[in-house]
Amino acid sequence: MGADHAGFELKQAVKQQLLDAGHEVEDVGTESAESVDYPPFAAALTDLLASAMAAGAQFWAISGFRTYGEQTALWQQGRTAPGRIVTNAMGGQSAHNFGIAADLCRDGVVDRAGLQPDYKPEAYEILRELAPRHGLVWGGSWRFPDFPHVQLPNYVTSSQLQPLRAEYERAGLLGVFTYLDQGVCK
Ligand SMILES: [Zn+2]
Repeated sequence: MGADHAGFELKQAVKQQLLDAGHEVEDVGTESAESVDYPPFAAALTDLLASAMAAGAQFWAISGFRTYGEQTALWQQGRTAPGRIVTNAMGGQSAHNFGIAADLCRDGVVDRAGLQPDYKPEAYEILRELAPRHGLVWGGSWRFPDFPHVQLPNYVTSSQLQPLRAEYERAGLLGVFTYLDQGVCK
């Protein structure tokens, strides 16, 4: 079972009833009632995933919102922590920190249950055409390509993200969402 953040409380209640009745429950999230992804972005992303699926390409969104701390921990990977470098953005420098970006993973074997990751860049090429059709930007089209990444336009560079950082520090994620709602950069 699963639910979005608005359905979290209900999911927990239903889950408890199922457990009480002796059923096994697989809970795939979410883990809290807190809002984390900007709803218009989530809507565009959902439409994009449906279009890709209709075109025969199944993607899973494997990473959306990240806290500054999570982003910095990711940045340390391959620098001061083990692993390979996966991002050039520290906390506050990524669209992921403001709920307007997601990383997708192509499912290489749709007939098998669960995600069978396909990391080949070609597997993401379909996003070049589909992402803009849903008002999103695809990281694979950048000078330093980020193939799994899609996000809202106009908030890509550190200077473009500056107003979101300011809002986040002033009023948290809801402040950022209110700012985006005003369409200052649309
Ligand atoms: Zn990303």
